[in-house]
Amino acid sequence: MSEECGLREPAGKAAVITVGTELTEGLRTDTNGPYIARQLSRIGFTIGETVSVRDDADEIADVVRELTRTNALVVSTGGLGPTHDDVTREGVAHALGRGLHEDPGARALLEHLSMKGESASVRQDFMRQALVIEGAELIKPATGTAPAQLVDTPAGQMLVLPGPPHEMQPLLEGFIARYQSVQETSIDLSVFGMNETRVMHVVQPIISDVDGITFTVLASAKESHVILADSGCGHETLASRAQRVEEALGDVVFSHSGETLAEVVVHEAVRQGVTLATAESCTGGLVSGAITSVPGSSDAHNGGIVSYANSVKMGVLGVSPQVLATVGAVSEECAQQMAEGARRALGTTYAVSTTGIAGPGGGTPDKPVGTVCFGLATPTGTRTYRKVWRGGARADVRARAVSFALDLLRRQLFGLSLERR
Ligand code: ATP
Repeated sequence: MSEECGLREPAGKAAVITVGTELTEGLRTDTNGPYIARQLSRIGFTIGETVSVRDDADEIADVVRELTRTNALVVSTGGLGPTHDDVTREGVAHALGRGLHEDPGARALLEHLSMKGESASVRQDFMRQALVIEGAELIKPATGTAPAQLVDTPAGQMLVLPGPPHEMQPLLEGFIARYQSVQETSIDLSVFGMNETRVMHVVQPIISDVDGITFTVLASAKESHVILADSGCGHETLASRAQRVEEALGDVVFSHSGETLAEVVVHEAVRQGVTLATAESCTGGLVSGAITSVPGSSDAHNGGIVSYANSVKMGVLGVSPQVLATVGAVSEECAQQMAEGARRALGTTYAVSTTGIAGPGGGTPDKPVGTVCFGLATPTGTRTYRKVWRGGARADVRARAVSFALDLLRRQLFGLSLERR
């Protein structure tokens, strides 16, 4: 198709440029920038900057010129589509002093895509996507229409990616796969159920005697990540210390390969041929949403019931009026009946339930904001839990509750401890 740019060592500084006026004006949240930064740091780049720039060829050119002077890799995302405001190609070509030419292979690919019934001007705009920066290697898209372009720069290379995340991600993964022969320079352990300070105390003594290993804990309401990076210790040492850290942390580690909690649960449920259901109050369907975000989840997930009102808890899930009248909807008794009701109604092997007070209002001295009760119904009985997460915003309480519910399913599926924590 066009000239190969060759593969560079994954080392040194990298920068990310996110293109789009909707990003600079705050109309859309930049999710591509953090995603790209995370993927590049996995293969050893140090990310110095992520810059957002408007859909303006001159402004794009200025940023590209500056960043390509000092970074071994610059990755841009956005502005590669067919419309007149998609001007990243022009900006990058101008900054690097290169021309743009129409690539015959790319044109043939675009012509193949249905443009029947479109006007000549729409077709002409569409064909702008076949414009390639002089000397760039074209990376074909698995989805969407805009190919990625990889071009040499004064300090290394620049990868020009489209904006829609579902188009950008496979192209970036394809690029990163080229580095597969290079051993990973960082290891990311995903953790749920141990606070950041305790994690620090477990990890620190295991790595304190090694030079050239750095460690970071990234904590959020949803989960934590323990990132161990090789800053000179070598791959063998990194791998063996990471294994010791994983053993010491124990069953709070749910993945060392980047899988989400929902993915771990779904993959194991499908593997075992068991089925899942949810009954949700304070999480309003988020547990079911997390499960169904995993491709293939329909093989395990029968469904969920969002039982916000007490009438639904009683009418659909069979929660007893006495329980609601005596101990209330936010109680382990109610969570138990909700989980059992969902398991019965949806005919599943397991069911998990959530009922709580996410806030900001609704708390009482007995049941402060952040109180969430859970039920886990199984063929051999139901367990219940009561957690109080104080001081969190509504979104944090709900995010924690979703992870806790998924973690109960994970613990059940893998035969891990289900003791109250
Ligand atoms: P298209 O062919 O869709 O025009 P494009 O490469 O030109 O692709 P943009 O027009 O910049 O991409 O963005 C298209 C859509 O992709 C945006 O409306 C937005 O939904 C999403 N998108 C773009 N950049 C980002 C980003 N940095 N973070 C999250 N979403 C993004």
